[in-house]
Amino acid sequence: MLFSDLGLRAELLQAVAEQGYLEPTPIQQQSIPPILEGRDVMAAAQTGTGKTAGFVLPLLQRLAGGTAPPGPRRVRALILAPTRELCAQIRTGVSGYGQFMKLRYAAVFGGVGMQPQVNALRGGVDVLVATPGRLLDHLSRGTVDLSRVEILTLDEADRMLDMGFIVDIRRILAKLPTRRQSLLFSATFSGEIRELARNLLKDPVLIEPPQRNRAADLVTQVVHPVAQERKRELLTFLISEGAWRQVLVFTRTKHGADRLARQLEHDGIDAAAIHGNKSQGARTRVLQQFKSGEVRVLVATDIAARGIDIQELPHVVNFDLPQVAEDYVHRVGRTGRAGNEGRALSLVSQEEQSLLRQIERLLKRQLPRETVSGYETGRSVSGATATGAAREVRSAPAERAGRSGARSAGNDAARHRRPRGSAAPGRRSAAR
Ligand code: AMP
Repeated sequence: MLFSDLGLRAELLQAVAEQGYLEPTPIQQQSIPPILEGRDVMAAAQTGTGKTAGFVLPLLQRLAGGTAPPGPRRVRALILAPTRELCAQIRTGVSGYGQFMKLRYAAVFGGVGMQPQVNALRGGVDVLVATPGRLLDHLSRGTVDLSRVEILTLDEADRMLDMGFIVDIRRILAKLPTRRQSLLFSATFSGEIRELARNLLKDPVLIEPPQRNRAADLVTQVVHPVAQERKRELLTFLISEGAWRQVLVFTRTKHGADRLARQLEHDGIDAAAIHGNKSQGARTRVLQQFKSGEVRVLVATDIAARGIDIQELPHVVNFDLPQVAEDYVHRVGRTGRAGNEGRALSLVSQEEQSLLRQIERLLKRQLPRETVSGYETGRSVSGATATGAAREVRSAPAERAGRSGARSAGNDAARHRRPRGSAAPGRRSAAR
């Protein structure tokens, strides 16, 4: 299928072509037609599926096709997102996809000054991307008028609820016209999300991704059992051994993220941490350094990582398992994006076994364990025993590269791999 088959207008097709997209992703194929028809939509879509274009393209087309209300320019499409990063990213998407249209776009989010946002709003905006908190600030100061909103989009709605935005969202909804089109995008359809959808959406078209296109299916997932206190050492070993260029590492706490980044730096690996305690400027800078390759390892907490958009991110490491099993799926969704395959590793200590079991229950499958020689935990890891005794395989670098040769991540490792016979490549025991 081509973008032109979806009935998008020439300006949008031109913008899509400029982005270098060849064909619409499954979520785009499913979401664009009903949104163009003016239907409400409830879509299950994770970051990396191309969901942003899935709602932004048809939304822009509807605005361009409709008639703007008379008088000064007022917000006609409102997109709510949970984090500043995601807002900034959607804003970039909107101006990219809408670059050939005569519409005005702005984003408002916290952590940066109000005044430039006030100025942008005063100048008139058609599409506004916002975090709920900052949007309420503008509403209370009277610097934004939402009475003419025609299309409302909630992006990453599940995360907004997780972050406690429900009251803010309700307050914002109260300021919107009841006659409007509403779109809800969420990684999961929890009971809470369905409840929100019941109040928000009218006869929505329900979109769930086809099984084969789920991001996690494109990701090779492996568990490395290791003692908690040796995780950092193992991580340094894996990064150096695989010559990984771009690794996103998840820790549970902000403090843990800072400490790990410092330790990796100490090990000679360029690393930086990104979390909610950092200023917006610092976060943007670090993200830029990571994208440009200046920083090889980005250590992040779950919330800070939401919305980080890096194409073809080859490696994701769970340094700590998440407390909530569903976060595992979000984390792993950072790799294997928009059709690119990736590799997700979890360093799992004995203490994290019950978290691992919860994740595996959610995934409805057991993740393969690979013990790295020299980092054994001493006790057998539950699951490893399920297939009998752990089988130890000596895996030479070429063999390891071959095993993942079809994957972009593997190719990366293969290109940079250590020459045969050089220092300690490490042995791995696989139990699957
Ligand atoms: P999203 O899920 O919206 O965060 O998109 C993930 C990434 O996929 C972004 O970097 C987009 O630029 C990219 N993308 C979106 N649509 C397509 C497409 N049809 N073909 C290739 N890449 C795309």
